[in-house]
Amino acid sequence: MTLPIPAEDPRHLPNRVLIDPSAITENTRALTGLLQEQTALMAVVKADGYGHGMLTAARAALEGGATWLGVAHPASALALARAGLDVPILTWLYEPHTAEQVLPEVIGSGIDVSVGSLEMLHLASAAAQQAERRARVHLKIDTGMGRNGAAPSLARDIGRTVRDDEFLQLVAAWTHLTSADDPADPATDQQVEVFDSTCEALADEVGPIPLQHIANSAALLSRPDLHRDLVRPGIALYGYPPVPTDVPLRPAMTLTSRLAIVKDVPEGHAVGYGRIHHTAQPTRLGLVPLGYADGLHRAGSDRCEVLVRTAAGDRRVPQVGRISMDQIVVDLGPDSEAAPGDEVVIFGDSGGAPHEPSAVGADEWALAAGTIPYEVVTSVSGRVARQVLS
Ligand SMILES: *Cc1c(COP(=O)(O)O)cnc(C)c1O
Repeated sequence: MTLPIPAEDPRHLPNRVLIDPSAITENTRALTGLLQEQTALMAVVKADGYGHGMLTAARAALEGGATWLGVAHPASALALARAGLDVPILTWLYEPHTAEQVLPEVIGSGIDVSVGSLEMLHLASAAAQQAERRARVHLKIDTGMGRNGAAPSLARDIGRTVRDDEFLQLVAAWTHLTSADDPADPATDQQVEVFDSTCEALADEVGPIPLQHIANSAALLSRPDLHRDLVRPGIALYGYPPVPTDVPLRPAMTLTSRLAIVKDVPEGHAVGYGRIHHTAQPTRLGLVPLGYADGLHRAGSDRCEVLVRTAAGDRRVPQVGRISMDQIVVDLGPDSEAAPGDEVVIFGDSGGAPHEPSAVGADEWALAAGTIPYEVVTSVSGRVARQVLS
């Protein structure tokens, strides 16, 4: 199924982002395989499913064994519920204006809401009264992130407020780890210690806490002791483990373009703005009509490779010179058989034969650009034609 982008006919565009839902399904299945029977998997599909399409990602993950869905924005949660995805959904990021607009409908739809302050608790309660339905609350505890979540010292207050408000039902206590991608960092254990003592204080006020959840992808893969009742992987579902792992995961997103021009240049020829690159030998350059306005990170200029698929086979070649808004240049090599029209895989899964070089990963672009694969996959812009494989 091809989803046309609004402004331009995808048939007229050289660039494609291909989404393979079966990769998300299989990655989810591989991750659920790591869990004890009592632990559920919440597929995190915020930010339009990390750029893969929220509904596509959600459906694929549910097929792979996820039984919960998690999103940042209440509006995204509503979209999931309206699509008929009949599993518990958690949303965790809203401010008073948004809450007033959508929380009644969110709670009325049976969607779970996270609460990270007394104010958020009051917003949830007011919305629940309006919806005439109890709000299912996950209490977010700030165990060290300093971001969303209530200070541990507020746990008893919040606990009492939940206990005394008939419109609030405590479903879970949860927290988010700052440094799980570095298993050697003691911050994780410190956060867990704070979490556990805060849960004890909370339980003093409200009784047993039905669910606890802590683990993102990194903790899912590296800390089985932190799986608790529910794990919340995001990036691993999409094929990029944030810690080394033997679990087979493959990228679900592939960004492709096509060579526009192939031309020979002499040694010492400059390439691109600022002339940061000069050819080291007489060579053949390829022009690719895709640039930072399509989602490449300019900071990764002259530091990564792409896969060019020529009649003579697949070949990894360096991207050279500055990344422009609409175009990049690759050094095909002096003896290249590449021709205009040949496909270029910027990153993802080339699906090539085992003896062929594999496509560059979003993680390699991330390394080149000084960022993380999360930012690479969520950066592909709206002008790239989107195609979901079936
Ligand atoms: C994004 C997010 C996750 C998923 O994190 P990954 O590192 O992508 O696995 C889990 N929990 C919360 C609260 C998040 O915001």
